Amino acid sequence: MKKTKAKPKVAPKPSKSNNSTPEDYSTETHLIYGKGHSEKWDYSHHLVPPMTASATFRLESAQRGAQGFVEFAHTVEGKEVSRQTPIYIYDRLGEPNKDLLEDNLAMAESGDACVTFSSGMGAVAAALGILSAPGDQILAHKTMYGCTYELLTLWYPRYHIDVRFLDMVNPENVRKAMTDATRVVYFETPVNPTLDLIDIGAISQIVRAENEKRKKQERISIVVDNTFATPFCQRPIELGADFVVHSLTKNIGGFGTDVGGAVVGPLWSRDRLLLYRKDFGAVLGTKNAWDALVYGLPTLALRVRQQQKTAAEVARFLSGHPKIESVNYPGLEESNQHALALRQMRDFDGNFAPGSMIYFVVKGKSPEDSRCNAEKLTNFLAKDAYTITLAVSLGNIRTLVEHPGSMTHAAIPASEQVRKGIDPGGMRLSIGLEKMDDIIRDLQKALNRI
Ligand SMILES: *Cc1c(COP(=O)(O)O)cnc(C)c1O
Repeated sequence: MKKTKAKPKVAPKPSKSNNSTPEDYSTETHLIYGKGHSEKWDYSHHLVPPMTASATFRLESAQRGAQGFVEFAHTVEGKEVSRQTPIYIYDRLGEPNKDLLEDNLAMAESGDACVTFSSGMGAVAAALGILSAPGDQILAHKTMYGCTYELLTLWYPRYHIDVRFLDMVNPENVRKAMTDATRVVYFETPVNPTLDLIDIGAISQIVRAENEKRKKQERISIVVDNTFATPFCQRPIELGADFVVHSLTKNIGGFGTDVGGAVVGPLWSRDRLLLYRKDFGAVLGTKNAWDALVYGLPTLALRVRQQQKTAAEVARFLSGHPKIESVNYPGLEESNQHALALRQMRDFDGNFAPGSMIYFVVKGKSPEDSRCNAEKLTNFLAKDAYTITLAVSLGNIRTLVEHPGSMTHAAIPASEQVRKGIDPGGMRLSIGLEKMDDIIRDLQKALNRI
């Protein structure tokens, strides 16, 4: 198996007390140390970067302030053009904690630049916002997070941006659907909530071939929502995607204490994303940035490695249970997408990393009966399980369960849900850090009662 060891693009400056070059160390280690300094801010004396709490910044003169505004989001090849030390002006334009987090997120995703937002939806809207305009078309996979679906179906028609949904599990469908107006190919993999996988490399080949025929401003960008996998399990940019979007609220934040989002993309997109954030205003709070920087990213590998070990056992338990119709977990060998999972879901060191999310369908004599059993199971778990909590969201230290048909994906009409692969009896499980046997015992007890 090919090792896909990520080479961090934003390498930290070698510390003065240590002569080793940053390339000697793994991404996992880099996420603990971070970059430690920037042109604008240096916290190299701190083990923990100070949490900044300043909405605005002192300017030395009217001229320097004015120049700061001119320089903001006007870089050449990612470098600020001024010969002076760059400055901070106002939180919405940028401040130290967000900058440090953005450096580390870009490194984790093997991207050139990152801009954070106040939520995952803020990030999704920003990525699509800088890439599309009236008259353009977005191609999207038929199934996705409910709010993203609603963004594309409730709001984008008002802006005369055409959105077409198709089944991207077969990449050839993308080739067939592209038109002169297409500017974005958008999908999640694994897909929320079905855990279907989409072949990032195959779609990127199709889009790259098309882009070679196009003028620069008419090219198509691939945007992947990598929230389910996290950069620990999969780095879409290494596989050919242009942009990655994240809900930091989930497993990157990891503890369920903060809402946040991020876009990682090519260098040219950084200025546009910064301007978009400045003007639409979905700016990540400094405290939220600090939590993801200090607690979330440094523990990501440790948490997800443990969660996926448990997830593999839970998926195996569920797939052998007589009351379960089917289980979708990329790590299950019998999954018809296992070969693709092996190819594209790899941790920072190249080991197979199928993640911490499971989708399963409860049996029933009819779809209605199946929905009814899933609701019963949900309620038994909600009431009696100690280690499984009924809650939306995912990527937490606690195991969370939910019924997508009536919760996270309720924005998709019931009649449409089946067509989009959301089964009436489907349930989504996000594995936490509890002991594996405890989770399985709680599931067993609840399943015995339906
Ligand atoms: C939760 C989620 C989002 C939205 O993130 P928020 O931080 O809640 O705004 C987007 N995409 C996926 C796949 C998600 O799970």
